[in-house]
Amino acid sequence: MAGYVTDWRDLYRGRARCVLRPASVAEFADVMAYCHVHGIAVVPQGGNTGLAGAAVPDGSGQQVVVSTTRLRQIRSVDAVDMSIVAEAGITIAELQSAAGDAGALFPLSFAAEGSATLGGAVATNAGGTAAVRYGSARDLLLGVEVVLADGRVWNGLRTLHKDNAGYALRHLFAGSEGTLGIVTAAAMRLVPRPAGRAVAFTALADEAAVGAFWALLRARCAGAIRAAEYISGHGLALVMHEMGLRAPVARAAHHVLVELNAASADGLCDLLEGVLAEALEQGIITDAAVAQNEDQCAAFWRLREDQTEAQKRAGVNYKHDIAVPISRVGELLARCRAALAQRCPDLLVLPFGHLGDGNIHMNVVRPAALGAAPHPEEGEVAGVVHDIVAALGGTFSAEHGIGRTKTDLLETLRPAVELDLMRRIKAALDPAGLMNPGKVLRQE
Ligand SMILES: Cc1cc2nc3c(=O)[nH]c(=O)nc-3n(C[C@H](O)[C@H](O)[C@H](O)COP(=O)(O)OP(=O)(O)OC[C@H]3O[C@@H](n4cnc5c(N)ncnc54)[C@H](O)[C@@H]3O)c2cc1C
Repeated sequence: MAGYVTDWRDLYRGRARCVLRPASVAEFADVMAYCHVHGIAVVPQGGNTGLAGAAVPDGSGQQVVVSTTRLRQIRSVDAVDMSIVAEAGITIAELQSAAGDAGALFPLSFAAEGSATLGGAVATNAGGTAAVRYGSARDLLLGVEVVLADGRVWNGLRTLHKDNAGYALRHLFAGSEGTLGIVTAAAMRLVPRPAGRAVAFTALADEAAVGAFWALLRARCAGAIRAAEYISGHGLALVMHEMGLRAPVARAAHHVLVELNAASADGLCDLLEGVLAEALEQGIITDAAVAQNEDQCAAFWRLREDQTEAQKRAGVNYKHDIAVPISRVGELLARCRAALAQRCPDLLVLPFGHLGDGNIHMNVVRPAALGAAPHPEEGEVAGVVHDIVAALGGTFSAEHGIGRTKTDLLETLRPAVELDLMRRIKAALDPAGLMNPGKVLRQE
């Protein structure tokens, strides 16, 4: 059972009574009905790539892991209605491929897409690198099929692009992290597949330039921006060292990867080169490289997508999945760098993430050379980061969810009324508290 009871970050090693892998919705309903009658707590699991410790059981050995990985049918793809209906265990990469075969695009995309499942992406409301253009999983969610805590099946698999009939129950399950029911299938929105793609990797001297570069990109290429990803200079050095990669530009304190997409390739490279020339002229960027072919696009993207893996290899990771108003990203980077350098000079501050959403993973790595445990400064580091985020009007959880890592923060930082509403929703859908207990909401 090892792979099912240990989370991707290796932060939590639980124990389970058993791992169940139902292969049909009817089998899921039977499992849930049985657990309901016998008072057995259930931990839904997809690809187990979540970063908030929510997909693995606690240490009691009493919980049951229910894996969706055998629920793998694509039920329909419709390039006229622009929808795809698929079962929860299909991976995000497989969905992208099925949409591509139908001449459309499933736009959700992130580094774990080869293992992360549709059910997991819905349940965590995953964002990723194209959220700046297409939104997060919730924005793409048209309908869901859910097996409820008592074993009843709700078929809400509508593929309508407008449906205002009452409360949008489907949205409750987006970001619910397995605490309200098991998503067995979802209907997702597709978008037209762009024919043109242009990717550039840039270098910037200081934090102020990061904000200025985003503002210029928005002004010149608004409708074409598919991604604008931030990587720190130290993060670039680390990924080159750990993963054996090469940088396409002169090394700097900050880097931004830009991808433009459009219905036609005509003029797209010119648009990108034009904005880069303007940014160079204004001193906003200090260097840039435009990918000349698909191999170079992939090589540029690896520098960003391998950040998580490189940091995992470098030592103990303190992750802060935060977002601030986009206009304040430069300030966030500058303030965190200064405050952490003063308080914890031995740690590596390695922010990266989705600049266009204001969502920066303000990660801090305790180098392996300092020893693995204990980590006395982890709480202090989190306090420094979250105080700065709060002062800038941001959030402590942008896209990875609450899981078990942030239940205390949720309790502390969200208003009592908001928490009360969340508890009432939980009680309405899971009165016995058997769905992924202790995740999202702290166990009383
Ligand atoms: C290298 C790497 C990069 C990542 N990059 C991003 C990123 O850019 N953006 C982003 O948003 N996230 C990112 N993630 C985290 C992301 O949340 C997960 O990868 C993904 O969304 C979870 O899918 P999963 O199938 O692995 O779910 P799991 O990890 O198995 O589960 C995650 C949560 O969802 C619940 N769950 C799973 N399946 C179901 C279901 N069918 N019904 C109900 N609940 C369910 C689980 O109980 C748990 O609470 C990254 C992760 C890694 C490892």
